[in-house]
Amino acid sequence: MRDLIVAGNWKMNGSQQFVGEMLLALNKASFSEPVNAVVFPPSVYLHEAIQQAKAVKVGAQNLFYEKSGAFTGELSASMISDVGCEYVILGHSERRAIFGEDDLLVAKKVVAALENHITPILCVGETLEDRDGGKYADVIATQVKVGLSLLSTEQTSNVVIAYEPVWAIGTGQTASPLQAQEVHELIRNLVAELAGIEVSHNMSILYGGSVNAANAQELFSQPDIDGGLVGGASLKVDEFLAICSAAA
Ligand code: 13P
Repeated sequence: MRDLIVAGNWKMNGSQQFVGEMLLALNKASFSEPVNAVVFPPSVYLHEAIQQAKAVKVGAQNLFYEKSGAFTGELSASMISDVGCEYVILGHSERRAIFGEDDLLVAKKVVAALENHITPILCVGETLEDRDGGKYADVIATQVKVGLSLLSTEQTSNVVIAYEPVWAIGTGQTASPLQAQEVHELIRNLVAELAGIEVSHNMSILYGGSVNAANAQELFSQPDIDGGLVGGASLKVDEFLAICSAAA
């Protein structure tokens, strides 16, 4: 059975006080066995979040692929592993659009994560223009192919992919369960071509983009959707917990 994952991407939100309150509330909650709940605080709060987290895992929102050196402002994979991160979000559309990350850069980051035993969540997704122009399948296929291009089959088996249509992020306009399922199936078929049926069958593919407590269950009940990558709704503890329950 595939891992069910609900990942809370806090983006550039929060404070020390917020981290303390969230972790306290999450520590008190009970999670259903099959669901892996993971939170992604801003990097400056990773250490304290990891110190406090009992019931959830903690991941980083980004890393840089070099091992060390003159890369002002960046964090290496070994550093985030050193503080105890088990996951990292890579290739988020905000990193691609605002910080100019391209598919090859993202691919190098995926390698660095895996070499440091961190599970990368490789984000892919089309813009509204790509969707309206009928190009979404090609855009997503390129992001997946290049994103996985530097990996062995065994390494690919440790990757999680998140499908996040850019037009659904922070807009309240969720992809319909059928729209999301169509793309998840496409991604799974592509992974089968690249790395074989077994890897593709066992890969967790998450949906992200305006997931909330009201729509999570229907999205997560689709055959190729194995949980979610949640932004805004992950900042509210009750809503995040309801989304975790919907994945169980
Ligand atoms: P929202 O859930 O706020 O739409 O954000 C999704 C996202 O970008 C998670 O990485």
